[in-house]
Amino acid sequence: MLARRVPGILPPLGSDEAIAVSLVHSLVGTGKGLMRARPFRSPHHSASVHALVGGGSAHITPGEASLAHCGVLFMDEFGEFRPSVLDALRQPLQDGEVTISRRAARVRFPARFMLIAASNPCPCGFLGSARRPCTCDHVAHARYRRRMSGPLMDRIDICVPVNVEDPDRVLDHEVTAQSAGMRERVVRARGRQEERQGPTHLNAGLDGAELRACVGLTADAAMAVRSHAESVSSRGLTSLQKVARTIADLDGEERIEAQHVHLAWRLRMPAGDDGRGGWS
Ligand SMILES: [Zn+2]
Repeated sequence: MLARRVPGILPPLGSDEAIAVSLVHSLVGTGKGLMRARPFRSPHHSASVHALVGGGSAHITPGEASLAHCGVLFMDEFGEFRPSVLDALRQPLQDGEVTISRRAARVRFPARFMLIAASNPCPCGFLGSARRPCTCDHVAHARYRRRMSGPLMDRIDICVPVNVEDPDRVLDHEVTAQSAGMRERVVRARGRQEERQGPTHLNAGLDGAELRACVGLTADAAMAVRSHAESVSSRGLTSLQKVARTIADLDGEERIEAQHVHLAWRLRMPAGDDGRGGWS
């Protein structure tokens, strides 16, 4: 439910984005005229590489990654997707596009999406739960953790443990009716990014040099970043600063303060977890 709400708090599609999204969807017949809403795609965990990133021989078609362009690609039961499918996601996550090469043609489809993945902490789903004990054995845990690690996980910036919620609280309208307010805050934060970096360069898309040019760390924040330098990869450190930059933008702050770095770190690796965040 949370994942489905995300397109609703993102800014409306710009006209160039609306045209790009509509063109991709027209190739598979799912578009109806000019699409104005950000796409939300949620492929099943049995999806093939072809279904996820596109393919075909005589007629090359875009996959879910491209149909989610400018929107959200939601992968529920992330640990159940085939390893080859998860591997195939690395190119679009890195480059924002998919290249499909065949003897007759080479086709590029846009694929700049927000990836949201959800997964149980273990195959039985109760690892760490206060309600029921986990019934998985060590072998099952190890296999599951292997799937949740490696280069793809390193590209995921934010990792949040979600506990089983009290149904009354989930249905509470005071809690659920906040999307409009959140969207205003996101639109303002994106506006700040565009002013600083230009319309095509959101924080998530900055490379190392661009990030250094615009990150604006205070001395305390720089010290906070340095304190984590030894426990993450350089990609992880870049990702930490991008998330901190975004939190500062959401707060309307010009510079990144130490508190923004601390929050970005907690979102990367929730308290009490000594692994790569949130999966155990
Ligand atoms: Zn379990």
